[in-house]
Amino acid sequence: MGRIPERVIDEILDKADIESVVGHYVSFTKRSGSNLKGLCPFHSEKTPSFNVNTQKNIYKCFGCGKGGNAINFIMNIESLSYPEAVKFLGARYGIDVPEEDSDYREAGIKQHKDRVKKLLADAEAFYIDEFRNSPDASKARSYAEGRQLDKETCEKFGIGYAPAEWGVLKSFLAKKGYTEDEMKDSGLFTVSREGDKIFELFRGRLMFPIKDAFGNTIAFGGRNLGSELPKYINSPDSAVYKKQDNLYAYNIAKKERSKTLIVVEGYMDVIAMHKAGFSNTVAALGTAFTDSQLRLCARTGNCEEVVFFFDSDAAGQNAALRAIQMMIKYLRRMSGMSLIIKIAKVPGGKDPDEFIRQNGSEAFARVVDSAQTVAEYLAQRAYNDNVDDKGKLDTARYLNDICLYGSWSDDEIARDIIASEASKKLDMRLEVIINRMAGLASNDREREAMMEARGLGRMKEGELDHRRKSGSDEMPQGYYDSQVPPPEYAAPNAPQGESVPNTDPLPFNVDEQTRISQDEIADPLQISLMAHALSLNELLCDKSMVDKEDIVRAGDFTCVNLKKMIREYYEIYTVGQGVSIARFIDVMSKYVLNGRPAEDVILEAMTQCDKYQDSRVLRDMYLAILYKVRLEAMTIKEDDLVRQLSVSTGEDKDKIISELKKIDLYKNKIKDKESRI
Ligand SMILES: [Zn+2]
Repeated sequence: MGRIPERVIDEILDKADIESVVGHYVSFTKRSGSNLKGLCPFHSEKTPSFNVNTQKNIYKCFGCGKGGNAINFIMNIESLSYPEAVKFLGARYGIDVPEEDSDYREAGIKQHKDRVKKLLADAEAFYIDEFRNSPDASKARSYAEGRQLDKETCEKFGIGYAPAEWGVLKSFLAKKGYTEDEMKDSGLFTVSREGDKIFELFRGRLMFPIKDAFGNTIAFGGRNLGSELPKYINSPDSAVYKKQDNLYAYNIAKKERSKTLIVVEGYMDVIAMHKAGFSNTVAALGTAFTDSQLRLCARTGNCEEVVFFFDSDAAGQNAALRAIQMMIKYLRRMSGMSLIIKIAKVPGGKDPDEFIRQNGSEAFARVVDSAQTVAEYLAQRAYNDNVDDKGKLDTARYLNDICLYGSWSDDEIARDIIASEASKKLDMRLEVIINRMAGLASNDREREAMMEARGLGRMKEGELDHRRKSGSDEMPQGYYDSQVPPPEYAAPNAPQGESVPNTDPLPFNVDEQTRISQDEIADPLQISLMAHALSLNELLCDKSMVDKEDIVRAGDFTCVNLKKMIREYYEIYTVGQGVSIARFIDVMSKYVLNGRPAEDVILEAMTQCDKYQDSRVLRDMYLAILYKVRLEAMTIKEDDLVRQLSVSTGEDKDKIISELKKIDLYKNKIKDKESRI
């Protein structure tokens, strides 16, 4: 299906006013100003908590948290895909919905993409050749040997080596006739801050090509051969690659036509599994499992069940709970898809690679066979998490977890399985537990609060630790210079949708791709910052309201999805007008924040801003949050530098000291501004 032109989306959002669209399904019981209230069509309730704002052209339910624009509403209520919902509304409001398939621009894009794919295939051949023949690659070869990657395996997976020296790949590709634009769009290079130079992203690394379902190389993962972090770097999303839509080794696994697909954590796990005879194994690519990855599994030949292996450490197990919650949600949305999800556990807390090496394939086959269904896993998990070494059960917490897990699913059988063991253990009637599950299920917010208390809070701390340890370079050099360049946003009155070069001041944002759970965790303060910026809207880039350097930029966010969202926001931003919130909801609906649809999370945070009648008060709140976020980031950076200071000497030491001074100055400047709010 072709792309629907932006102008058509704008026209639909303009003509399909939210009151009449929603009015087909909801009768409004109360009206005050531009606000309408009624019973929510998405969850059962007796008192109306479903709101429509006719001025902003959006809806929001405070019971179940659903919110969005007219298109989202139709998608939800009619169970339609995005383009289907657009066509549905087009038909109802007499707007012709064409597709941009055949036009010249699309043809040009296709040609460019084909070139980029060819470039990536050439790069793969280059890396393989380096791996086999270059003296520089001896470390890579001995690493591969140590991990028992024989010649055949290396060939099958296209294992390669990216030379450590700068410029080698670039000149190889230039000789082959590729342009710098094509190189930029390949995801193999990073672009200098000034945008005029490109550098190889992967250097001195063992390379794993990532292929699409048809076996075309579309990206790479690169493993460091030394001890420095990050251990793995993955290609960023590019002209030909979206990590959320792909699975590592899927092109091989799908040929198995097995009824089971196995999902493990890393490249090396996949390779070990294939070697041991489990060619039906794939890995997610440095993200939490997404709904499109699940759909990819469902579309695979005879696939009936997907068996997941999660790391057995605390972080891995927390991630497992989050992933299960999301997958249950995806499955609910994908009606008609009968995919069984199972969770398997490698005994002894090992990863699959290690286990197979020690115990062989047959033992591993038994591990796969003993995988539990989601309901069984959750029932047992609730018990294991709350029982101590002496077998004493914390009954209150156990019951809480049971009810929470049961509330994720609306499947009666699943609820029954989760509740029945608990009913026996707690000597409590089954329907009492099941009723509590149902009660929680209809209250997203209470459930989120429980989830937060249950584990997300802990995960956040772990994440922060990780960020500190890995020496984050989120804050680019010069960020805290007094002459900070303003963030670039669309030129005044740039036509909507015209793309603006990405000039975000992050010179090497590789760790966006490697921090696995980062797109999961959005800090509440940063969500609030986003909400305040969006509420300011046209005032955000109004010089008389906000100083240039106080305009929020992607670098202010640590969460990848918030970064991406603010970039997209500025892409469609028009000075003097801002961006219509209904239009931006459309953008947000591509993203997930903390396991929930981004538009739900952001709209909820934006309602906090609605209470400020005076835009100057809103502005001051915005600034206060911005300063707090920036100060926090500086403190993390400072901690890093101080740690580096203790192990550095001579020139390096001087550099760090001068950087620390700059940070100090910058912090004082912010504090000074803060005190003037
Ligand atoms: Zn609702």
